[in-house]
Amino acid sequence: MRVYVSVDIEGIAGVVNGEEGQRGNPEYERARRLMTGEANAVVAGIFDADPRAQVTVADVHGPYRNLIPEDLDERATLNRGKPKVYGMVDGIDRGYDLAMFVGVHGRAGSAPAVLSHTFTGALLDVQVNGKPFGELGLNAAMAGAHGVPVVLVAGDQIVADEARDLLGPEVITVQVKESRAHLAAESLHPNVARAKLREAAARAIRERPSVEPLRVRQPVEVQVSFNRPVFADLSEMIDHVERVDGRTVRFTRPDMPAAYRILRLMTVLCSTPL
Ligand SMILES: [Zn+2]
Repeated sequence: MRVYVSVDIEGIAGVVNGEEGQRGNPEYERARRLMTGEANAVVAGIFDADPRAQVTVADVHGPYRNLIPEDLDERATLNRGKPKVYGMVDGIDRGYDLAMFVGVHGRAGSAPAVLSHTFTGALLDVQVNGKPFGELGLNAAMAGAHGVPVVLVAGDQIVADEARDLLGPEVITVQVKESRAHLAAESLHPNVARAKLREAAARAIRERPSVEPLRVRQPVEVQVSFNRPVFADLSEMIDHVERVDGRTVRFTRPDMPAAYRILRLMTVLCSTPL
């Protein structure tokens, strides 16, 4: 069994504030250890169920250099660093059987989802074929485009709901905290969260829940709203992108990987100092 485990930081037990995701402060140093602990719990669960598994752990927060390599379970390999064309799902086309998403957060604007956003704070809303998609949906659709089902999603109660809505009732969700507000949550103790994650990952491998790969209708129509009109101005420089209104653009691409590349490029443009 080949398993792709992507790990973000905002949905990790105990994490509630943006400072915990930003280098250069002590809270971040703690949060990245918590993140590494949850990654290890999932890896351990996978190997409990299949000692011959091959596991890739992808670090997908900020600079993609958060997980502490020497503290990661040595049975897994670590996909680390950016930029990469397919961002948070780099390498998902390399023959994986399953994906598990850990530390996931609600899509931009969802409440009371702790630290909700979609790629960057500049994207207010992303719709795929008329339905709002956050990072979970976009990354699951990329996995789905390569035939890979996302069988486990861990984070707060809001992203667990998103997972069931997008992936169906069979998806295994692990709620490690209950979001109370954008910057507040009531969280399990990290040890309790890890025990749940280990058990759930093992169950996902043993029982193979009947989650289908998320395949979106093609061609893929995407509409994006930005917090500032200048980001819509910049996005209009990309081929296929047209303006809808002051802060909104849209584009249509033949498949999800092509659409995802444009979204990643928009995310880069939104980091332009203006
Ligand atoms: Zn993140």
